[in-house]
Formats: sequence, structure tokens, C-alpha cells
Amino acid sequence: MEVTSALYDIFTCPSCRNIMTPPIFMCDIGHSLCQNCYYNVEKCPTCRAAISARRNTAVERIQSNFVFPCSNQDDGCKFNGSAMCVREHEVFCVYSLVQCELKIDDCKWTGIRENLLNHCLEHHPNNVTSASQQIFLWPKVENDSCCRILINAFEKQFLCLWFFENAYHANFSVTYLGSMAEANNYYYTIEFGTGDDLPSTRLFKRKCHSAKACKMPRSDLHVFTKLKNVVRDFANRDQFYYTVTIYNYNVSYVQIEEEKRKRNVNLESALCPKWRPAKSSDVETVLY
Ligand SMILES: [Zn+2]
Ligand SMILES: [Zn+2]
Ligand SMILES: [Zn+2]
Ligand SMILES: [Zn+2]
Repeated sequence: MEVTSALYDIFTCPSCRNIMTPPIFMCDIGHSLCQNCYYNVEKCPTCRAAISARRNTAVERIQSNFVFPCSNQDDGCKFNGSAMCVREHEVFCVYSLVQCELKIDDCKWTGIRENLLNHCLEHHPNNVTSASQQIFLWPKVENDSCCRILINAFEKQFLCLWFFENAYHANFSVTYLGSMAEANNYYYTIEFGTGDDLPSTRLFKRKCHSAKACKMPRSDLHVFTKLKNVVRDFANRDQFYYTVTIYNYNVSYVQIEEEKRKRNVNLESALCPKWRPAKSSDVETVLY
């Protein structure tokens, strides 16, 4: 069912004016309040009564029968769905306003998500690739450094994050910039020592987490592949190569191999992404 404007009011949180999603709480009188505001306001914004821990299940049940548009519909987004689906969609909606994901040289770019890739290709060409497989050069990296790389594969975007404490503690993750359900379609490998002159030595295979799934406190830690001693094993070289490949469970391996041959992935096409000192906010900002 399409939601009418009168109903919109019932489903809108009186405090933050966002569409509420379950659990919807209420005051002693029965006015609704969203979960976020439930934790942040002391009195009901409508009548000043005390907030109770009871849920407004009637509103939750009525709301589940309605279809909501994406809040970016005026900009052209056609997505609609349950309040929960829309909430999840909006975080990664191509029309949502985002900051530069790479944050290189204190880049202050803001724009819609749809334009992020072009911005990165134009301004941070060393830290972005449009191939599902890419060879990277690891230069001499200072301790406590961070590196972000945007990968556009299968017409979707993935963010690689290197968090290098020292040669014994190097953390790497690839998060999918999309919903948790879609993230399940992807996994990645990171392989060290790939190249004509180096035998393939260490390969790690992991699933891509949704950047959104990582929002839970400290769950950021489980998204990282801990490359404890791997980097140390290579550290006696001035530089070494590693290859990151994104796989889609729905695309056959043969197809991916075929693509690779066509693209002729080789050391000449290796990227040397920019690194910078890590800030404490670096881990948190990869998460939504
Ligand atoms: Zn609210
Ligand atoms: Zn009230
Ligand atoms: Zn949208
Ligand atoms: Zn930028």
C-alpha cells in the first residue's frame, strides 16, 4: 500500500522527523518515538510525559503494510520498500550525500554517491581501480599508517582499508559499500608476492562485509584480515607486490579468469596507492 500524507505523520518521529522503524517506543500517554530518540530524550517531545520502555506494536504492525519511497526521490531515486528496507537502502543510495571515501590529502569533497567514483578517478588515481583484480605495489610504509583504496567491480563499490601498525600487525579489510544482504554475494582474496618474478606465496580468502554491518561497537575488528607476519616476511625487500581480487558468487570462476586474460593483469599496470599517518578515526570512518 502507498502511504498517504496523513499516515506519514503517524509514522514520523516527533523528535527527529525521520520515518520510524521498529522498535517504535512510546510515552506513558501513547505518543510514538523512534529508537534513536528513545535513548536520547528524557521526556515525550509531544506531551512532556515520561517515556516508557513499552513498544508501540500497533503502529509497528500497521506500518509494516505500507511501502515508503526513498528520501532522495526528488533527486530521482525510484527505490521503495518497507520502512526498514528504505532505511537500509538510503545509507548507500546513489543519490545520498557522501564525503570522499579516500580522504587523501585532507580531501574535503562532498557529493552524491553516484559521482564518488569519478571524483576518485580524477583526484586520487593511485587509490582507485575499476578492475575486479588489481596488483598493488607496497612501498616502504611507516608504522601506524593507513591506506584506503576504492575498487569498482561488478559495477559496485568496495573500500579496501589498510591499517598498518607495524610489520607484525598489519590489518586489511574490504568492505562492500552496500547492504548486508548484497554483501553476501562477494568475497575477496589478497595474495602476496604475485608477479612474474615472485612466486605466489600467501593467499587469504575472506568474505566482504557490508560497511553497514560493521557499525556495531568494536565489531570493526572482525572485518579485518590480520596479516600478522606476512608483511614482515616481505619487509626485507624494498618493495613488494600484492594482488586484491573481488569475486562474485554469482559469476563463475571461468568468467573471471577469462576477464583477467583479456585485461592482461601485469606488473606494469600495478598501482602504488598513497599512504598517510593513521588517525584514531580511520577505523570508525570506514563504518556507517
Ligand atoms: Zn526520532
Ligand atoms: Zn507523549
Ligand atoms: Zn534512494
Ligand atoms: Zn577525494
